[in-house]
Amino acid sequence: MAEKKTTVSASESTRKKKAVTTEGGKNTVTAKPKGNATGRRIGAVILWVFAFVFEILAILAVAQKIDFSFLQMNPLVPIIILLVLDLICCIIGSMLWKQANHIDPASEKNKTLFWIWNNMGLIVTAAAFIPFIILTLLNKNADKNTKTVATIAAIVALLIGGACAYEWNPLSAEQKAEQEGIFADKVLPEGSVYFTEYGSKYHLYRNCSHLNNSEKVYEAIAGSESNEGKSCVDVALENGCNDVCKTCKKKFEEEVGLDAAEKLKAEEEAKKKAEEEAAQAAE
Ligand SMILES: [Zn+2]
Repeated sequence: MAEKKTTVSASESTRKKKAVTTEGGKNTVTAKPKGNATGRRIGAVILWVFAFVFEILAILAVAQKIDFSFLQMNPLVPIIILLVLDLICCIIGSMLWKQANHIDPASEKNKTLFWIWNNMGLIVTAAAFIPFIILTLLNKNADKNTKTVATIAAIVALLIGGACAYEWNPLSAEQKAEQEGIFADKVLPEGSVYFTEYGSKYHLYRNCSHLNNSEKVYEAIAGSESNEGKSCVDVALENGCNDVCKTCKKKFEEEVGLDAAEKLKAEEEAKKKAEEEAAQAAE
């Protein structure tokens, strides 16, 4: 019990320091949940449709079915511009799709479907460039220079778009439920979790060595208004994380204990249930 008290006071003193926002010259920024998954999915699909439109226009431009000669410039210019627009739509669409999957993760019971769902952006990006590459290579009328440059540009775009669209940190519904079960807000050692812009792991301690070199650290504070009723772990997962940092987990196991954490959470839930029952009985 005494140990728990020191943890709390330590967290209070860190909180005070954080109010100044700089700690060791580094910024700690309050994190927010990402919000709506459906809106992001719709946005992604709309952008992907545009990506296909730009690809078709680029194919027609190579086949000289669309005449861009009125622009009075090298015929390669409109083709490259169309490919860039295609790429931008693929990248932004895939980012939205990946964010949606971290807000509303799919079950990993079926591994194949889970992979396909998480990598829809990658599949769309492939479909948004590979037909263009094949048709350009097969085109017998286009001049050699146009064919070569357009093909290379499309391959580069495919590689960049593919790397951006690939889900490097997949999160499943099962993973989310498990982490919410262990690291409930009530048992967080500092009442917060921390993560960085592109990091896939969230941290339970602000002074974790893995955060030492981060310019900007996001903090999700338990029970805060900024969390909009969500748990700290939820906020971290929505912001692109998919697991807890191993160093922090080890420290947490030593200081709190995973069993103790589960017990605390069960007590908390039993208390809540009893309160609800009492309220019902009073009615
Ligand atoms: Zn850590």
